[in-house]
Amino acid sequence: MIRVSAGTAHLLGFRNLNTDVMPKTAYLMTGERCIYNCGFCPQSKDASSRSDLLSRITWQDADINNLAKKIAVVFNEGRIKRVCLQVVTGRATMSGVRRITSTIKSLSEVPICISASFKNIGELKYLADSGADRITIALDAASPRVFREVKGGSWGKTMSMLTAASNLLPGRISTHLIVGLGETEEEMVNILQHMRNLGVRVGLFAFTPVPGTKMAYKNSPEPDSYRRVQAAYYLIDRGFINANGCKFDSGRLKSFGVTCSDLRKYLSNGKAFETSGCPDCNRPYYNEKPGGVIYNYPRKLAPNEIEDAINTVLQTLEGVR
Ligand code: SF4
Repeated sequence: MIRVSAGTAHLLGFRNLNTDVMPKTAYLMTGERCIYNCGFCPQSKDASSRSDLLSRITWQDADINNLAKKIAVVFNEGRIKRVCLQVVTGRATMSGVRRITSTIKSLSEVPICISASFKNIGELKYLADSGADRITIALDAASPRVFREVKGGSWGKTMSMLTAASNLLPGRISTHLIVGLGETEEEMVNILQHMRNLGVRVGLFAFTPVPGTKMAYKNSPEPDSYRRVQAAYYLIDRGFINANGCKFDSGRLKSFGVTCSDLRKYLSNGKAFETSGCPDCNRPYYNEKPGGVIYNYPRKLAPNEIEDAINTVLQTLEGVR
């Protein structure tokens, strides 16, 4: 079974959606009702959410052959730059995932990333060999404490897999981290630095409460906290700062260890506040309601948006007025 996100279905001509930003990546999902029980996920084992949801996005069924043809057309027209295949750990099999990837790759050169959980590194290699240019292993939680509380399962095993994967396929591994699961900014900044050291790209997500999940009643992160974490990731990823140089007060970021004018200079292109993750992944409205807080900008920011975002970061830092 294969599904496409609402925005992708619109892009491929399967439905009409009123949207102001198009996805630059075609988002696909295979499998349903995960064997794991992450508190935030509508696909988790015990969630009573609608089964066509992942985060706040609806997904619809598609036929793989038709889908592969449409993807080839929009890729050749330059309207998408990548395919993202999310594998829900349940009924999806590794051979089924490999067939999907091979079918898409048989019709175009579109880069594909596969986001899945793996029992061993052999499984990961098996999928990478099917033509995927990137593999994502979602850590989601920023620390062992939050992982235990929100996901269950083994932080150690996921970290070992990320480490082994980054050694096996250097520069081709991504992870997801969700801001607002109960971590401190200090925990988030430290794990962002660790991922940078491993050469793993990070897709930052804002926790989004979804009806029917265990965490349905928890709030999304405070926008100012999210902006500090986005800034931290960008600055760490570009090598402008190191987590060791940051200062925290009760877990909250107080200093990036650089001057205010340097911070303004580093953040001035607004890239820190755009969607992060695999190249060309913009995930429009994945965490955002239209008209609400834009956590991840799926497009370039306007100058006033850059100014607002930078001021939000600066206003709570130590010694910055
Ligand atoms: S970062 Fe984007 S493209 Fe990569 S796996 Fe995550 S959602 Fe897919």
